[in-house]
Amino acid sequence: MAETDYDVIVVGAGPAGSAASMKCSQAGLKTILIEGQSFGRDKLCAGGVNPWVIRKLEVPDSLIERTIEQVQVVAGSRKIPVIPLPDDMAYRMVLRKDFDWFLVRKAKEAGSTTKDRTKVYSVLKDAEGRVSGVSSSEGDVKARLVIGCDGASSVVARTSGLWEKWWSRRGMKRGWRNHQAFCLETQMRLNPKEIERRVGNTMTLLFEKSFPGYYWIFPKSSVLTVGALSLS
Ligand SMILES: Cc1cc2nc3c(=O)[nH]c(=O)nc-3n(C[C@H](O)[C@H](O)[C@H](O)COP(=O)(O)OP(=O)(O)OC[C@H]3O[C@@H](n4cnc5c(N)ncnc54)[C@H](O)[C@@H]3O)c2cc1C
Repeated sequence: MAETDYDVIVVGAGPAGSAASMKCSQAGLKTILIEGQSFGRDKLCAGGVNPWVIRKLEVPDSLIERTIEQVQVVAGSRKIPVIPLPDDMAYRMVLRKDFDWFLVRKAKEAGSTTKDRTKVYSVLKDAEGRVSGVSSSEGDVKARLVIGCDGASSVVARTSGLWEKWWSRRGMKRGWRNHQAFCLETQMRLNPKEIERRVGNTMTLLFEKSFPGYYWIFPKSSVLTVGALSLS
């Protein structure tokens, strides 16, 4: 066996990375979680989390900004009747900044080494072409296993060769180009009473004929997350 610094390197400290790192540490593996940005960073996301995930990750009530009870869909000028959500689909609203930081701390408590502001440039490969670590802004790190949790444009997936493999397996060379969308999102700070009065525990999705995408309004306690996604 080659000499290694760690059993596992996890690249990216979003929910996937922190959860993977926590699980590896709990299993007794020497694990490092590497994040390119600072811990406590924000993330483009509406912040709606499935209740199953909340239970599984033991997310405390203090991080839950609101429980969504119903969905309002608006199609042009038509307001479709409100859809009540059953308990097991009652999305919990979180602020990603706090949620992700909580999960990093859980990974750390489980025994993971955590490192932020460290950009991974590529995976390293041994003489047989097996992934053996990563090259990063802090130098090379060796491990028996590298887990890529570095998001939609994953460096791990691209430099390990997985990226091209996925797309070519689907007969889509550079197919990722057709799977991109343009998003704009803002967190509007508002008086909590005003949010309660105007929006309450309702998640709103809006569609318009002239717009090839949709808009959303996801209420938190003192913030409305408002966004738009366009597919062209
Ligand atoms: C507009 C929008 C709204 C959304 N709303 C919701 C929602 O309401 N509910 C929901 O469940 N999902 C939502 N999503 C999807 C959700 O945000 C993602 O599925 C989720 O963040 C994926 O988590 P992840 O841990 O895989 O990756 P990410 O959260 O993307 O984390 C990846 C991490 O890797 C780090 N990283 C990247 N490259 C490197 C590198 N080279 N070196 C080191 N670190 C690196 C990044 O800094 C980042 O911290 C939304 C997405 C968008 C775009």
